[in-house]
Amino acid sequence: MVLRGVGPERVFQLGRLGIHTVGDLLLHAPRRYEDRRKFITIRELELGKSATVFGKIIAAGVKRLRGGARSVYEFVIEDGSARLHCRWWNLPFLERIFAVGDEVMVFGKPNLLKPRTMDHPETEKVEGGDDVTVHINRVVPVYPLTEGLPQRSVRSFLWRAVEEFAGQVGEPEPRLVPVGTVEQERKGAGESASLTPQIPGSPASFPTRAEALRALHFPAEIADAERARRRLALDEFVALQLEIQRRRQNLERNARAFPCGGDNRLMKPFLAALGFKMTGAQVRVLRELRADLAGPVPMRRLLQGDVGSGKTVVAAGAALMALESGCDVALMAPTEILAAQLHRNLAGWFGPLGIAVDLRTANHRQRAASVPLAVARPEAVRLSATDLAPSAAGEACRQDAGSTLGQRAASVPLAVARPEAVRLSATDLAPSAVGEACRQDAGSTLGQRAASVPLAGARPEAVRLSATDLAPSAVGEACRQDAGSTLLVGTHALLEDSVGLGKLGLVIIDEQHKFGVAQRETLLRKGRDGGRFPHLLVMTATPIPRTLGLTLYGDLDVTLLDEVPAGRGRIRTHVRDAAALPKVWQFVRSELEKGRQAYVVYPRVSESDRDEVKAVTKEFARVQQELSPHGVGLLHGQLRAEEKDLVMASFRAGTTKVLVATSVIEVGVDVPNATVMLIEDAEQFGLAQLHQLRGRIGRGAHESHCILVAEQKTDAAKARLKVLAETTDGFALAEADLRLRGPGELIGRQQSGVPEFRFGDLRGDRDLVELARALVRTHLRGK
Ligand code: ADP
Ligand code: MG
Repeated sequence: MVLRGVGPERVFQLGRLGIHTVGDLLLHAPRRYEDRRKFITIRELELGKSATVFGKIIAAGVKRLRGGARSVYEFVIEDGSARLHCRWWNLPFLERIFAVGDEVMVFGKPNLLKPRTMDHPETEKVEGGDDVTVHINRVVPVYPLTEGLPQRSVRSFLWRAVEEFAGQVGEPEPRLVPVGTVEQERKGAGESASLTPQIPGSPASFPTRAEALRALHFPAEIADAERARRRLALDEFVALQLEIQRRRQNLERNARAFPCGGDNRLMKPFLAALGFKMTGAQVRVLRELRADLAGPVPMRRLLQGDVGSGKTVVAAGAALMALESGCDVALMAPTEILAAQLHRNLAGWFGPLGIAVDLRTANHRQRAASVPLAVARPEAVRLSATDLAPSAAGEACRQDAGSTLGQRAASVPLAVARPEAVRLSATDLAPSAVGEACRQDAGSTLGQRAASVPLAGARPEAVRLSATDLAPSAVGEACRQDAGSTLLVGTHALLEDSVGLGKLGLVIIDEQHKFGVAQRETLLRKGRDGGRFPHLLVMTATPIPRTLGLTLYGDLDVTLLDEVPAGRGRIRTHVRDAAALPKVWQFVRSELEKGRQAYVVYPRVSESDRDEVKAVTKEFARVQQELSPHGVGLLHGQLRAEEKDLVMASFRAGTTKVLVATSVIEVGVDVPNATVMLIEDAEQFGLAQLHQLRGRIGRGAHESHCILVAEQKTDAAKARLKVLAETTDGFALAEADLRLRGPGELIGRQQSGVPEFRFGDLRGDRDLVELARALVRTHLRGK
């Protein structure tokens, strides 16, 4: 099929716009519409207000400025009411395009009224031929262009394409969209309407795809173009939902999972040692997860919980169920800092249960295994060791721990080295041997925290869960053997080919919005074993507005963790301008003097020539000076992993009082003693991001303060920060952010996995997304 009148040069130019076929051309959506049935006169133009006028060129010419390096081309048009000057800088070739006597349409905003002037307006010459039907006297589409391609050519091509081909465009298969006349649409009374899911705000029927394409380009009224766009958007959403829901249906019909419901034998000691009581929501979610994990169909579940709601413990609980069932578990986090923190927490909880917790990031490739002491065996946890011979235990620790433990594993070596662990461990463990083992390993590899654990804890009185009959020899044996199931924690590095995963029962992804769907699928495929697929639990603290959620996570079941653990201090949010900084520093100092800690966040790592956005590396010295003598650490994404680890460890230990950081600390970081989050140049961040950053504080019992310092130059910037100060509801903020900045920005530019829609708009098309989902559901259920 060819389109009349499209020569080789135009073919090339259209190709640059991605248009290679008539089909592509029909989907080339107008940028805006102009009602050219009535023009205003030049006299009626108002300052700063966009409008289209129509007139004849009465004078034109190029003026050279500054010795010819710069130029301005200008023409003057007249329409009988007044004259309008139109100017273009440094586009002298325009001289060859327009001539005195040409009739032109000009669209723009007057920036002067004496004389009336527009700078760089859009223009279109009016010529003979089809002009009367296509380019004027109607609602006219205005298209995105490319160099050398005139507006009127594209419009003419589209006119012909619509005339000749739009009528041949059929309904997409399967035919799910209810079509009907505009009348039926308005009344909501299409014939098929009663069978179709009703979504509030959505019409009962839509134009056919052919009608929609026609109205998209040449609508009778501007409102018809929007109706057309919505039909085409719905087709996009339906196509996506078909893909998502078919994938899900496939999974449910064909894929089988390893049973991972567990039997509670690790869960009980885990909960007993936790040091706090689970919230009602955590318990409910864990129950729900257990039901999924025990089932034959691989779980596909999204856990949404606002910052600080305690998702990590829930993930740990789910992991335990799989581990109890003899399966391995992989947990993926978006940053090294977060992976290291998760690894530390989980090793702390699981080490005493004898579960190996490994860390795998770009910089931690070595196996940092926990030491499978006698307690390593699940059975052993319940029994634990009365008869554990001191010498054997010591020996076991020295051997394995000394040689294979990385820094991280420090938290694990001797179960009894940690307070939680002590409660689980052995009554008759002779203090001296424990002391010996701990001193040796702890001295060399344990971090500050573990090293300071008093040995007194090993006393029999302290032991809650203890046990009787484990033979000494079993200890060595257990050490030598693989401990059984492993929990592998890591970053994207987990996706590498070299990372082998054993019998992977469960994949957990923390802060899922930082990953793309493709990465999630890669990890799941890696765990595939014959016809079996791992269960999947993804977690996110960035509340995802529903349109985005259905689009990105439409194949997932959603669970809400809607309760924040009790005993948290309140968070106050303050918006200040830069002039208030001296007072702000004074306030931060007073918090530090009370023993609290603070984050100070800047938008950039290093300075840029382009703007004056503040950068951590530069501001670091200043913060040190302002807050001296308190210790200040520096953290950003360009540090080496070991440096990051050291900085975080020191902040966690309270040696460093203040952390100057970029948004690398945005996700996951958990230091309850921190009560101040000071963000400079706050207008540089998105609302959801600021909310995440604010979520780093208010994790302890003390009242916390989030201080947003910003030059609030525009009202919009002010309004945005005000929204944040007034609400702590993450969902409301996410909706606001989506409206203000769009989906790509909201969930991170890199691999957000947000599909590109030509017509769909996730900011406003919520009803269509819901409708598409319901239509596809009904359709697939019937099959
Ligand atoms: P997030 O949901 O943001 O990932 P975390 O899992 O990091 O939250 O939990 C935040 C803090 O709350 C951690 O220090 C964690 O140990 C603590 N926590 C979690 N659950 C509870 C609970 N039920 N009671 C008290 N503290 C809890
Ligand atoms: Mg978290």
